[in-house]
Amino acid sequence: MKRLVFATRNVHKVAEVQEILTKKHPILSLREVGYNGELPEEQQTLAGNALQKARRVRRELGANCFADDTGLEVDALDGAPGIHSARFAGEACDPEANTRELLKRMQGAARRDARFRCVIALASNGREYLFEGSVEGEILESPRGTGGFGYDAVFRPAGYEESFAEMSPELKNTISHRGMAVRELAQFLDSQH
Ligand code: IMP
Repeated sequence: MKRLVFATRNVHKVAEVQEILTKKHPILSLREVGYNGELPEEQQTLAGNALQKARRVRRELGANCFADDTGLEVDALDGAPGIHSARFAGEACDPEANTRELLKRMQGAARRDARFRCVIALASNGREYLFEGSVEGEILESPRGTGGFGYDAVFRPAGYEESFAEMSPELKNTISHRGMAVRELAQFLDSQH
């Protein structure tokens, strides 16, 4: 079986994605393949950023590779932070500071609708493919729960009482933006065997 690298350094994402892809499609993280290079995200769209990361790792390692880019789009903030989600509170990419910044900007906002969108780009055997997922929900007034990562504690998916951070990883995977996109990727990988 050919190596499949997931171009991320986020251990939470690796665990989430491997769970969905199952043992049928083992993935290697950047840490596992010893890749320490930069992974710039300089494009203006999630797809552009995901492609940029997947292409770079594919080129430098010569392995089939996929990358994801995720954005949280808040209606009351005209779609922000969107592609700037990782750096919402500055270059440190500190998830707690990002969450604090979001809650500060949302103070007193009556409309709290938001969605996570995830795009996965796969660079495989000389071709490129995109897979997408999104989940609607709302921004809570204060953080709830200790699981997950990033903005999980302040995002409550529509139709559920719990925030993402209060859910089991299995439930989050079932309904999340990344879960949807990864299941599409899994179907594609299945169809290639
Ligand atoms: P990236 O896809 O790693 O660039 O993610 C952009 C930003 O969104 C980062 O601040 C992540 O912490 C956050 N993020 C990505 N995926 C999730 C998620 O599933 N839940 C909560 N926050 C996320």
